[in-house]
Amino acid sequence: HSGFVAIIGRPNVGKSTFLNRIIGQKIAIMSDKAQTTRNKIQGIYTTTDSQVVFIDTPGIHKPQSQLGDYMVQAALSTLNDVDAVLFMVNATQKRGRGDNFIIERLKKVNQPIFLVINKIDQVQPNDLLPFVEDFRQALDFREIYPISALEGINCEELLGAVTNLL
Ligand code: GDP
Ligand code: MG
Repeated sequence: HSGFVAIIGRPNVGKSTFLNRIIGQKIAIMSDKAQTTRNKIQGIYTTTDSQVVFIDTPGIHKPQSQLGDYMVQAALSTLNDVDAVLFMVNATQKRGRGDNFIIERLKKVNQPIFLVINKIDQVQPNDLLPFVEDFRQALDFREIYPISALEGINCEELLGAVTNLL
């Protein structure tokens, strides 16, 4: 199992925390798929039988301006280049404008999209279901994973599911 996975989400949802937890090494690979100036390789997840390259997609949450539009287009084309997309949201905050901005763009993405609901260590289990339902009606997700990047809850399961897809 090997491939490229983009991780997106508005600032502070926990993208770096998640990547820092799962990434064992800095990478130095060359691939025409990954080597463009508009995206940034964040790291690689390796096991005995898999290799998943995680790519940051800056720009998708930038405000709309001429430059902003360009950035968003670039980020979007990155999302259609990878094999899967992780869309990370914050379980402690209701779906907001920042999330909706990304969701609108994700509607044009053909790759499988995982909804990753982070920071579940900070919410009551009963609050999770309505949260999931709200996002589920906003976009069609391949799979939905509640996790805590900080405490490591469900992170391995998420990685396993993503890796299995590749
Ligand atoms: P990014 O901007 O999406 O890369 O977000 P960061 O990884 O920088 O995280 C933003 C803040 O959220 C930091 O203070 C993290 O410690 C915190 N954070 C990230 N993941 C979790 C989590 O699962 N639970 C809790 N409680 N805090 C988290
Ligand atoms: Mg970050």
